[in-house]
Amino acid sequence: MITELTVLVLAASSPWAHRWWVGLCDRYTESQMIIGGTFISLVAGYALGCVPYVLFDWFRWQPVAVYKVQPKRYVSWRVAVETSAYVLSLFVFVMLPLIVVGSGALFLLGVTLDPARIPSATTIAMQTVFFFLVEDFGNYWLHRALHTPWLYQNVHRVHHEHDAPFALAATYAHPIEVIVLGLPTFAGPLLVGPHLLTLWVWVLLRNYEAIDIHSGYELPYNLNRFLPWIAGAEHHDYHHAHYSGNFASVFVWCDQVYGTSLGFDALQERKSAAAKLGKMA
Ligand SMILES: [Zn+2]
Ligand SMILES: [Zn+2]
Repeated sequence: MITELTVLVLAASSPWAHRWWVGLCDRYTESQMIIGGTFISLVAGYALGCVPYVLFDWFRWQPVAVYKVQPKRYVSWRVAVETSAYVLSLFVFVMLPLIVVGSGALFLLGVTLDPARIPSATTIAMQTVFFFLVEDFGNYWLHRALHTPWLYQNVHRVHHEHDAPFALAATYAHPIEVIVLGLPTFAGPLLVGPHLLTLWVWVLLRNYEAIDIHSGYELPYNLNRFLPWIAGAEHHDYHHAHYSGNFASVFVWCDQVYGTSLGFDALQERKSAAAKLGKMA
């Protein structure tokens, strides 16, 4: 994720992006930019993020298959196609109307398109990290609320249809859940009032991150391998496999502070103890 963040931040703050942005502002109205551009960022983040994992699942290459969190649990093509069709309908019939409704609030709270105010790389990076922190905290509590009996039975159960998650199912959820969990995604931008370009970077990365944690692969270059406070795929996979615990999406802090990762932590300890024993044998 940090690679994608770095590439996107540098690209978005480059002179090339500045010229591109001026061209977009000349060609499109403010509403087209904020609604159309934000929607395209959302879909692009999803599509780009899914491509490598769909290929991994399709070809089942052994060098990659060894990083599968739940070995040999591959999604069937029928389920993959059905899931994609459902997610596509969520994009068009739930997320697009949400962006249309939310665009007014974003303008009122200071989102700007002004080419003269394209933010620096530092500003884009700092605001994006802030959005991730707000998202993580809000998502944690809303996700826990979705696990109360009534909300789980009537709303969140849809997302838990897959106990071995895969990339295409990252946003597979009841429409009400999509709306509820959209709140922390846009809470950070509503608090800050960023440049629209920063908002596009954020939406793209947020979607990419959701795919990452649902991919079912804990790859050796995943960020959480180097930064222990990032949750990662195995962390969220545990939530799907056990239907409880590990409620946070981005960082491990909330689950550790509120005691909802005890089962996962114990499992990880048992795994590392077994690995040590295996090396000694
Ligand atoms: Zn859940
Ligand atoms: Zn999930």
